[in-house]
Amino acid sequence: MRALATGCLALICLVACGPRPPEFVEYRLVAMATSVEITLPAEASRQHPELIASIEAELGAFERDYYAWSDGELSRLNRALSSAGTFDASQAMADLIGRAKSVTAATNGAFDPGVGALVELWGFNDATRPPSTPPSAADITATLAAAGSIDDIGIDGTRLSAGGARFTLDLGGIAKGAAIDRIVAQIESLGIAPVLVNAGGDLRVVGEPEGRSWRIGIQHPRGNGLLGTVTLAAGEAAFSSGDYERFYEKDGERLHHILDPRTGRPATHTQAVTVIAGDGTLADAAATALFVAGPDDWRAMAARLGIVLALRVGADGGIEMTPAMRDRFRPAADAGSDILAAGDG
Ligand code: AMP
Ligand code: MG
Repeated sequence: MRALATGCLALICLVACGPRPPEFVEYRLVAMATSVEITLPAEASRQHPELIASIEAELGAFERDYYAWSDGELSRLNRALSSAGTFDASQAMADLIGRAKSVTAATNGAFDPGVGALVELWGFNDATRPPSTPPSAADITATLAAAGSIDDIGIDGTRLSAGGARFTLDLGGIAKGAAIDRIVAQIESLGIAPVLVNAGGDLRVVGEPEGRSWRIGIQHPRGNGLLGTVTLAAGEAAFSSGDYERFYEKDGERLHHILDPRTGRPATHTQAVTVIAGDGTLADAAATALFVAGPDDWRAMAARLGIVLALRVGADGGIEMTPAMRDRFRPAADAGSDILAAGDG
């Protein structure tokens, strides 16, 4: 087993129960502030020599268009909604905003991409320049009061509209899932399987290795090792949200990038959440939402989202999980030595 890199962005590792078959190849691309590994049959890679370059181009475009602080579609959307109050979005953007809105509705705003102005205020928007000082309580209150929720945005076809508020939609809690789904759609359209797409520990699988099932590792939120492993069925995605991904400590408090839109502050009751779902978009958004939900609400919120596979590590390190997740989870102590690769930072 390869060692986990210190300060991993997310969790996890690879792959099937048993050593990696030699007929597989792994490509590593850098995108979305992490490394994206694509593991696929060597034969398929020979048959589709253009595939990896095409995925790389798609990820580059995705980064530009779905990151609020670059010069792409999302930043145009934010400017237009805050000034004119309308924006003609691409179909893909309108679809993703629609899915994000439904998660916001199902979670009573625990997940809300409208937190962008707060994310910026806390300084968690730029991974290359980590913040070290929290904003003042007065600035948090003022930013909270001025920020528009994604709930206020109406969608008519691809036309988005909203009145009044200033919008800094930040799709950082859902976009990686959407990006992985797009890559998977490309791979599926070519009929390639089995494949693992792993973006710094957030991942989705296509098909299943012959005669085996996928088993992936979940990073321990406080150590360099694993919390445990879970099995994945064909097509499933596993995403984690953790307070170890982007954080600093101030006066003994860990201040990190997952904000509770109701308080404008990092949610402190949780260390990590892992969600398994049928697609990356839902798994990504749900992991962020359940992180914010906290000890009393996460199970009911998962049910409202249609999520049956979820695991939560509380602030005291205690692990809770849904009954279905219990059947998939194996604690690290008996995780075995068949885990081949780890998430990177
Ligand atoms: P994730 O790692 O998927 O949990 O996403 C965390 C990122 O989502 C943060 O870096 C922010 O950009 C954004 N974010 C933070 N808090 C929230 C929230 N409550 N709802 C939606 N997005 C959030
Ligand atoms: Mg997320």
